[in-house]
Amino acid sequence: MSIANTYSVPRAGANPEPRETTLPRLKAMDIEVGITYCGLCASDLHLADGDFGDMSVFPQVCGHEIVGTVRAVGSDKTERRVGERVGIGWQKGACFKCEACLAGEEQHCPEARLTCCSGEVGGFADIVRCDARFSYTVPEVISSAEAAPLLCAGHTTYTALMRHARPASRVGVLGIGGLGHLAVQFADKMGCDVTAISGSPAKAEEAYTHGADSFLDVQDAVQRARRTSSLDFLLVTTPSIEDWDAVFGLMRPHGVVCVAGMTEPATVDIVAMMERTLTLTTANAGSRNDMRDMLAFCARTGVRPVIEEMPMTDLDEAFERLRSGAVRYRAVLTI
Ligand SMILES: [Zn+2]
Ligand SMILES: [Zn+2]
Repeated sequence: MSIANTYSVPRAGANPEPRETTLPRLKAMDIEVGITYCGLCASDLHLADGDFGDMSVFPQVCGHEIVGTVRAVGSDKTERRVGERVGIGWQKGACFKCEACLAGEEQHCPEARLTCCSGEVGGFADIVRCDARFSYTVPEVISSAEAAPLLCAGHTTYTALMRHARPASRVGVLGIGGLGHLAVQFADKMGCDVTAISGSPAKAEEAYTHGADSFLDVQDAVQRARRTSSLDFLLVTTPSIEDWDAVFGLMRPHGVVCVAGMTEPATVDIVAMMERTLTLTTANAGSRNDMRDMLAFCARTGVRPVIEEMPMTDLDEAFERLRSGAVRYRAVLTI
């Protein structure tokens, strides 16, 4: 047994507060990591608000974009040594025996342990424990603060783009926030023609600096009409979509619309999709291989998140900033 100093959400909808939390025994394949940075993701807010049902266990300790230093290793020989810098993302364990695990798709393991769900103690704390096989070496050229958002926002957007986009693809990114500003950079570095799409024209300038080739104000019907049938792939990172027909109108025949944001339930016009033989799919966090590839890609190409660093003692303020949409573009809490 060991005690973590955590920032726990006492009940659904409340803000986090300091608390001592007992951690389970360090298992044979586990490591204990002394946390230095942890990013704040929209999923953390959903967990804090109880939106994901029994995935939240109160007091709920969120945080799944963790960077820190290995402090202890379990009794078996793990690949980790005390003192190494590692990152941890959305998933912290799997069975390593099922069909998904054997196929290198651990994110679909029925026994997946998610880093801050179902009673697991997440990264808004001074220490965290995870299966060593779900810890990742952070390339030296990436700072710990910048690495944190890559471990969920980067992992998710990179995996979706690698699956659906090719260098010649015309890619749209709807929503230029924590996920979107990374997706624009990834798609640009992959060689795609990138359209940043947002309802905030003020974000155009920065979208260009992230590598966008063009900007579309999604509220502007004239601009939208000009871009009819212009995209092969659209990554949706917004929390909701008001007009699915407008989204489908942007797609070329056989286009793929991939929802990566935690969007609300939706009804879509299947016939409108049939007219262009469109595919509607979703993005989840990727596999361990996707994570390693993504970190190497960022090290090589210079993809980095734009972050706001805040002390973890101000986590409640960070929650409020994220709720109000004020964060540009990812909040990272430091111990
Ligand atoms: Zn996340
Ligand atoms: Zn499995």
